[in-house]
Amino acid sequence: MQLFYKSTRNDSERVTASQAILQGLAPDGGLYMPETIPALDIDMDVLAKMDYQEMAYEVMKLFLTDFTEEELKECIGSAYDSKFDTEEIAPLVDADHAYYLELFHGATIAFKDMALSILPYLMTTAAKKNHVKNDIVILTATSGDTGKAAMAGFADVPGTKIIVFYPKNGVSPIQERQMVTQRGENTFVVGIHGNFDQAQTGVKQMFGDEALAARLDAAGYQFSSANSINIGRLVPQIVYYVYAYAKLYENGAISKGEKINVVVPTGNFGNILAAYIAKNMGLPVDKLICASNENKVLFDFFRTGVYDKNREFVLTSSPSMDILISSNLERLIYRIAGNDAKKNARLMEQLVQEGKYEVTDDMRARLTDFYGNYATEEETAETIRDLYDKTGYVIDTHTAVASCVYQNYVKETGDQTKSVIASTASPFKFTRSVMNAIDTKYDAMTDFELVDELSRIANVAVPQAIEDIRSAQVRHETECEVEEMPQVVEKFLGI
Ligand SMILES: *Cc1c(COP(=O)(O)O)cnc(C)c1O
Repeated sequence: MQLFYKSTRNDSERVTASQAILQGLAPDGGLYMPETIPALDIDMDVLAKMDYQEMAYEVMKLFLTDFTEEELKECIGSAYDSKFDTEEIAPLVDADHAYYLELFHGATIAFKDMALSILPYLMTTAAKKNHVKNDIVILTATSGDTGKAAMAGFADVPGTKIIVFYPKNGVSPIQERQMVTQRGENTFVVGIHGNFDQAQTGVKQMFGDEALAARLDAAGYQFSSANSINIGRLVPQIVYYVYAYAKLYENGAISKGEKINVVVPTGNFGNILAAYIAKNMGLPVDKLICASNENKVLFDFFRTGVYDKNREFVLTSSPSMDILISSNLERLIYRIAGNDAKKNARLMEQLVQEGKYEVTDDMRARLTDFYGNYATEEETAETIRDLYDKTGYVIDTHTAVASCVYQNYVKETGDQTKSVIASTASPFKFTRSVMNAIDTKYDAMTDFELVDELSRIANVAVPQAIEDIRSAQVRHETECEVEEMPQVVEKFLGI
């Protein structure tokens, strides 16, 4: 059966999965949602025997129904290969009464690789299926990890160009270095004088700019998005929750049908939304624990029903979660509004006009799957240090936010349900913050001395992604003001 997608802001238009992937954002500014959430109708005993690639096919085929079996398997095989440094793709590590699902074994050592290593294949396949003649220009705003992972995926892919905007002073030194050293004739990187939300808003405005789209079309280009608003990002992220469950079952850690909790360090709400969809497909998940850093807009939302971005933007040690407008929350709002596009569109308009909105009591009553909390900078550092002291296992700052929130959740509720914590980045990506958390004596070391020291104390080899940038040459030096983003794009494209 063919599954169609609808915008969260407009009921009238239906598109196929491949069209939704090509467009990224719907023309009305909404996000695409499947008309129904398909059921995961496979016996866990069968799933548990599959490897990551086989399971990815079983999950993704339910959503990407206009891809042929051959096309989808080709995309999966090309994405989840030796770019990952472990055959398991997403291994589980048991440490201190929780299971850490390590989602950072791909090319850029953050969880964005889980989706962005397949998105270029999905997109070029979708372009072929829809007879697209233009080159696709991927426009991306990044809080640090998406940009590099998207460029790694799209670098030198024929028929595509990729332009990445990042907040010049809002990413870690390693993240910045990873981006500005990116190779590939079709890659462009720009540091903006602003924060992530401004980068994301600027990109959204360009997507909605019809005059710009017409100039692009005349020059043989069209925009698409690699941000987590693209369903081509969301669908691959569902896979690893199914995989984690199946592996826990296979290892005997849980019995068949036993519910687990999932804890997700959250920024744009994409990763946790994938877990929510997995739950709605029938995966036995109880609580979805949404962990924020000091930009705790989601914690406040779950507590009060009011989403209010009017607050100070805090730069934290978990920069990939420094976000006040969690784009993917719109998909949840749409769903708890009973798939009511009008109601959702009104709330999103309020968010633009007033910077806030409040959901109704009925809608709030549909949020009971979620628990939200946040970790301060101090708590985050303490969590890294404590876990290391107790077990020798080193986690990154984002994962530490989740780990801290999980511990507080257990203290508060006494809930002993087995829990999977999404481990979203390698500690090598945030070395300075991680090492400082473990001991302030590391303060004086250089970034790469810290890398070697981390490798020594954690007894983990330095990831290839870090080795690659030690001596890499800087290739991108463009900076701009927020208002100049469209001009920069036109200049890159020569139009
Ligand atoms: C992007 C990112 C997050 C946040 O994920 P969302 O899907 O945006 O909620 C968390 N941790 C790391 C390391 C990331 O790169």
